[in-house]
Amino acid sequence: MDARNPRRLPAVDQVLRTAIGLSAIDRFGHKAVVRAIREVLAEARTEGGSSVEAGAVALDAVRRLETLDRPSLRPVFNLSGTVLHTNLGRALIAEPAIEAAVLAMREAVTLEFDVDGGRRGERDEHVRHLLCELTGAQDATVVNNNAAAVLLVLNTLANGREAIVSRGELIEIGGAFRMPEIMARAGAELVEVGTTNRTHRKDYAAALGEKTGLVLKVHTSNYRIEGFTASVEPRALVELAHAHDVPVVHDLGSGTLVDLGQFGMKHEPTVAEAIAEGADLVSFSGDKLLGGPQAGFVAGRKELIARLNANPMKRALRVDKIRLAAIEATLKLYRDPDRLVQRLPTLKLLARPEADIRAQAERLAPVLGQILGDAFSVEVISCVSQIGSGALPLEGIPSAGLACRPRGSSGRALAALSLALRHLPVPVIGHIADKQLVLDLRCLDDEGGLVRNLESLRLDSDALG
Ligand SMILES: *Cc1c(COP(=O)(O)O)cnc(C)c1O
Repeated sequence: MDARNPRRLPAVDQVLRTAIGLSAIDRFGHKAVVRAIREVLAEARTEGGSSVEAGAVALDAVRRLETLDRPSLRPVFNLSGTVLHTNLGRALIAEPAIEAAVLAMREAVTLEFDVDGGRRGERDEHVRHLLCELTGAQDATVVNNNAAAVLLVLNTLANGREAIVSRGELIEIGGAFRMPEIMARAGAELVEVGTTNRTHRKDYAAALGEKTGLVLKVHTSNYRIEGFTASVEPRALVELAHAHDVPVVHDLGSGTLVDLGQFGMKHEPTVAEAIAEGADLVSFSGDKLLGGPQAGFVAGRKELIARLNANPMKRALRVDKIRLAAIEATLKLYRDPDRLVQRLPTLKLLARPEADIRAQAERLAPVLGQILGDAFSVEVISCVSQIGSGALPLEGIPSAGLACRPRGSSGRALAALSLALRHLPVPVIGHIADKQLVLDLRCLDDEGGLVRNLESLRLDSDALG
């Protein structure tokens, strides 16, 4: 017992024997509860003050354990206006893919097992034929993500050799994926051709030589150069490179498998188009427009894919059985394009009609208005959703949402509201624009869940001024 604070605090055993203590042991285990009680008692000791009841210590310990027990990776309401938000996990996985992933987790599976021959099989086999069917490519391989796909391609075809890229395509993608740095790590020497806004056939022609390992075409997915511009059409580039016996690699980024035009969006280059244009290899992501789990695909010529698979790096970049199962199930959905919008959540959100979103906003505006009280006005507004993850960066999709504007003059009110929304049991992520907090409702599926969640909103009245 602490000499400075005798008899004011209950013993650990005493706390453990309270009703709350006993049920806590059931939930969290003896060891964790003892530790939490010790922590609460240690804090009470340093704080001093009046005596503390055993029951109160047990309750504090349970609160502590509940906070610790809450998953760090947890669901949010993505009302940010960006559908494929990299920081919020990009694509939502389709139900058949979730079921396939769960099964692969729970059971032993034919990951690298050839059932007919009773021999060792190849893990890529499960998705290779699907990728070929959907892209028209001869062969395909799958790795951890598209960054890994690009790294593997560069290292396989251009290690110790030159890789030619237009200066207009030397992209940086969020999270430190910079083409020049990836090149260096892959052992390829970057040869930049043309200028930022204009690259011509003759620029590529002058750079092609003995040391060229590949010509890389990068889909400038997160920006666009406009005005006085020139670039070389993929077909012309392929023709030129092939005349020098050099392969052309097209990094498509989002790489959709279907024409988005049919869902009311602007056309984004499809993988099949890039293959048809003659690219020898095409790389693209699994969790962008494709709507599957994180993955990187390379589709293209059989002998080049074989070289990728023979690179020891492939082993370090491969995907696990869980994702492979989800990828297979996701790709299978593409065999029935008519039902794709209903079955692929990402596409469903992207194709959601504005009128539908607006009607939802009209229903929710009075509810949120009442919860926020006098401090904010809540209005239904038109807004523009972004696809996100670099797809069609300048093509917003008309949407609708709720704009919360502080009635008072306190500059802190918006930040306080934004924080309070993020601190809800299910964090609500909006964005601040034009001195108002905007909740774009395009990605809101569980409307009732949002309302129940908002009911526990607590605003810091000091900040509202
Ligand atoms: C997104 C993107 C990448 C990186 O893909 P990840 O799947 O995020 O690793 C590479 N290149 C382009 C053009 C991209 O848009």
